[in-house]
Amino acid sequence: MTASSNFWLQDIPRQLAALDAAALRRTRRTVAPLQGARILVDGQPMLQFCSNDYLGLAQHPAMIEAACAGAQDFGVGSGGSPMVNGHSTANAALEEELARFVQLPRALYFYAGFATNASIIPALVGAGDAIFSDALNHASLIDGCRLSRGQIRRFGHGDLAALEQLLAACPVQRKLVVSDAVFSMDGNLADIEGLLALCERYDALLLLDDAHGFGVLGPQGRGSLTAAGLTGAKASPRVLYMATLSKAAGISGAFVAGHELLIEWLLQKTRSYTFATAAPAMLARALQTSLQLIEQQSALRDQLQARIAQLRAGLQPLLQGKGWQLLPSETAVQALVVGSNDAALGLMEGLRRHGLWVPAIRPPTVPVGTARLRIALSALHTEADVKQLLAALQELAG
Ligand SMILES: *Cc1c(COP(=O)(O)O)cnc(C)c1O
Repeated sequence: MTASSNFWLQDIPRQLAALDAAALRRTRRTVAPLQGARILVDGQPMLQFCSNDYLGLAQHPAMIEAACAGAQDFGVGSGGSPMVNGHSTANAALEEELARFVQLPRALYFYAGFATNASIIPALVGAGDAIFSDALNHASLIDGCRLSRGQIRRFGHGDLAALEQLLAACPVQRKLVVSDAVFSMDGNLADIEGLLALCERYDALLLLDDAHGFGVLGPQGRGSLTAAGLTGAKASPRVLYMATLSKAAGISGAFVAGHELLIEWLLQKTRSYTFATAAPAMLARALQTSLQLIEQQSALRDQLQARIAQLRAGLQPLLQGKGWQLLPSETAVQALVVGSNDAALGLMEGLRRHGLWVPAIRPPTVPVGTARLRIALSALHTEADVKQLLAALQELAG
């Protein structure tokens, strides 16, 4: 070995070639907004079915105005950790609003969803503690579990009987059950009441990630926990409710809400809260407007529900021929499972030629053999938009 040999620059091309061979190499496209659900993708106009902006608030004029006014009042950056100088009056007001909106005692506002999950779990459990994690949980929850150094017991997706066996056999005192409330690549809902009943029976804490339910599900879009009737007077002290503000809320960031003591503990112990710069106040201001729109504009949710029903009904006749499977989902996330990576990429490419931008999702994001199109619907989609997608899929299925 010579001093000038560089293992890294020899090894990375080999690893990239392996990704290419498995059709797992990822590339990015540049995008820019046009009108409605239409965007420019690498300069080409496309109709997109991939945004998590489920209510179409990311470009909403009232949000843009609130962000601009927030920038006038506070500038564009927060200048530091919330523990030092970053906790603006706007961020404090947003936390109050978030807690009120989800009908839970207290909320803590974070700059990003991934960082929230990756660091609240290590704040709650550590070496010797037990974590029970649904097999299809989001990567940020999985990383949080790993970072905590707790003992991770994975249970089959939605398998409450398996979860109960694991809980019953667990001698550890500090037990945390972790689950997506809406599974991000399938679109289906967790059995929240069932999970909570088990947590009560075995004295565990339940952490729910409602990234894809907040703003969309429940009365006034208050989310999955309110939809399950477990907020307000029915709020349970053993539920921690996490949601991102980057999907239906249209911006970025996240929050965790629940019992006063749990939130106070997270405020003390969450490293990505203490050692990261607070979200800019201009975003907190725009998020307050977002909460108002989510609460008041039920027409946006009605529009989304109509598109979901239209898509599901229109896909039914296409499922037989190619062995495609449409997963059960009442949410904006509609997964059309086609099987192999090549088949998913081929379908994505076929749609692209029709001017339609629908992402293929492959392992490791989803289990091997279940590569899929993840069709994300939004209140921005018109009936004609969904018709166009269905017509293209029909042609590609034939
Ligand atoms: C998007 C997402 C996150 C991460 O949130 P960001 O705000 O994008 O960082 C966490 N959990 C789930 C289920 C998600 O879909």
